[in-house]
Amino acid sequence: MKDTTYPPSDAIVAGAHVDAAGYEAMYKASVETPDTFWGEEARQRLDWIEPFTKVKDTDFTLGQVKIKWFEDGVLNVAHNCIDRHLATRGEQTAIIFEPDDPQTPAQHITYNELHEKVSRFANVLLAQGVMRGDRVIIYLPMIPEAAYAMLACARIGAIHSVVFAGFSPDALANRINDCQAKVVITADSAPRGGRRTPLKSNTDAALLHCSDKVRCLVVKHTGDQTTWIEDRDVDVKAMMEQVAPDCPIRPMGAEDPLFILYTSGSTGKPKGVVHSSGGYLLYASMTQQITFDYHDGDVFWCGADVGWVTGHTYIVYGPLANGATTLMFEGVPTWPDASRFWQVIEKHKVNQFYTAPTAIRALMGQGTGFVEGHDLSTLKVLGTVGEPINPEAWNWYNDNIGKGKLPIVDTWWQTETGGHMITPLPGATPTKPGSATLPFFGVQPVVLDPTAGTVIDETKCEGVLAIADSWPGQMRTVWGDHERFEKTYFSDYKGYYFAGDGCRRDEDGYYWITGRVDDVINVSGHRMGTAEVESALVAHAKVAEAAVVGYPHDVKGQGIYAYVTLMNDIEPTDELRKELETWVRTEIGPIAKPDLIQWAPGLPKTRSGKIMRRILRKIAENDYGALGDTSTLADPSVVDELIENRMNRG
Ligand code: ATP
Ligand code: MG
Repeated sequence: MKDTTYPPSDAIVAGAHVDAAGYEAMYKASVETPDTFWGEEARQRLDWIEPFTKVKDTDFTLGQVKIKWFEDGVLNVAHNCIDRHLATRGEQTAIIFEPDDPQTPAQHITYNELHEKVSRFANVLLAQGVMRGDRVIIYLPMIPEAAYAMLACARIGAIHSVVFAGFSPDALANRINDCQAKVVITADSAPRGGRRTPLKSNTDAALLHCSDKVRCLVVKHTGDQTTWIEDRDVDVKAMMEQVAPDCPIRPMGAEDPLFILYTSGSTGKPKGVVHSSGGYLLYASMTQQITFDYHDGDVFWCGADVGWVTGHTYIVYGPLANGATTLMFEGVPTWPDASRFWQVIEKHKVNQFYTAPTAIRALMGQGTGFVEGHDLSTLKVLGTVGEPINPEAWNWYNDNIGKGKLPIVDTWWQTETGGHMITPLPGATPTKPGSATLPFFGVQPVVLDPTAGTVIDETKCEGVLAIADSWPGQMRTVWGDHERFEKTYFSDYKGYYFAGDGCRRDEDGYYWITGRVDDVINVSGHRMGTAEVESALVAHAKVAEAAVVGYPHDVKGQGIYAYVTLMNDIEPTDELRKELETWVRTEIGPIAKPDLIQWAPGLPKTRSGKIMRRILRKIAENDYGALGDTSTLADPSVVDELIENRMNRG
């Protein structure tokens, strides 16, 4: 079966930052002479207070892993994202804020305004005794204050750690304690999809388990009534009025940590990923501009939450470093109805739109009626991130949102990588539905034999995905646990950064992420990525979503266990179960036929929308007593339902 290929249109190629020839030349330079390549990029893209003399000093050897870029350079991230733009674009909109409720007016915050807000916020932090290197937890809704808080930390050299506003008090307390934060910034409550999360009372509950020295800064956003503890709680907006409107920037070393971000926890206990100031910002700036082919004056919308790395890099740091207009959306795609994304695109004339397969599948399940009638003609580039995108969802996105004309960038990367690693470039890379295609500049992917750990040289192959050399956006360590950093990423395959994902490389050298390595199943000696079976299931008209895991099987070694969510109006029947078995059989082959299919009204997902397969694996194995860390689950009740109706009771 030959994959359909979509070459970039002539129109895109003509105006693009990088075309096919450009990609080849730049990629070659980036891996053959990284010092020259990245040195030039860093000097051009960023303002340095003290220039660096050394570009790259990295080592992937277990026991001495070290990742340093531009080590002796001095800069300030907030200066690069705000101050340096003021002379030329002070009155340009930096942030468009679209509130949860479409009836509430949107806000346009200019670079001048951003400068003042961030400076005042920084002064509030200083007044609370926050010093360079101190940790600040940010537990806020998707409101401009979240960006102000992040940039205020950067301005004074404090290290922020954003905790997604959907997390529980427990998850919040764990993170406050893990990084020993001095301050937590929260809001009274967080409106989302017409409902409200009581952030302040969650924070009160979390702080019961933390040092009583932790200060609580509260942004009064909705005006909801909250408890108030004198000497601990601070009204941020009121304080911002009282402090000076200007705050000098603090010169920081390129290797000083900018932030800590905990991974989503889909494979285990979240890790405190540490990112740097210089290398990270450079990588954020370059990928935002090149991957999305962002041009001056465009309106850029990354629909992720700032609680995820995607929000850090592509709502805040990348776009603002480039002097872009970035859209911040407080709401959800399905409220007041499933047309909200398309309404927002029309309203703000969005040019680049970036979302996740889980959102696309959810909207796909609602039908195309919600897309019709919305003017999406300003769109130039579409993006996706977070999971392998099933070709079915890719095609829906392409047909209905891109109208068959727009490049779709399927960006493979991780919290750990800081920015895009494998992705098409709009004007350079012909795309294939479901493939993340080719590496970004400086990224050297290798496919390793999973057991031998040796590099597979054949172009067409399958194995585990690893990276052979460092790139500027790479995480530097796990907060407080460098050993865990080395062990997690550098010990399985010596000399490589191991991403934890499996992949296949096709005859054109394109990469296809097959999911977590843990998700590879071995049926009667045949190795199979679960993503493939899931894609086949989702391609069936009655299936909305599917998750596939392996479970011990007497005869085959491993059997295939599929959790299937049906489209809204479809009844689960035994007949349909048979139909799906036959469907997968014909789509992939007899070997892929699911042994057990469980109807799943909902799937356990992280708050970032990823399916937690480790939980599904436990249930499939009939070993649901110890599910591990479930603190990042979006809706824990889903799990009980699945356990109750499990298919394997042996
Ligand atoms: P944890 O590491 O705590 O288990 P996580 O891996 O879900 O959490 P993230 O860093 O947010 O946390 O997710 C990165 C992972 O998401 C990648 O390793 C990959 O499995 C998946 N992923 C992201 N983008 C893509 C993509 N475009 N195609 C395929 N998989 C993707
Ligand atoms: Mg991970």
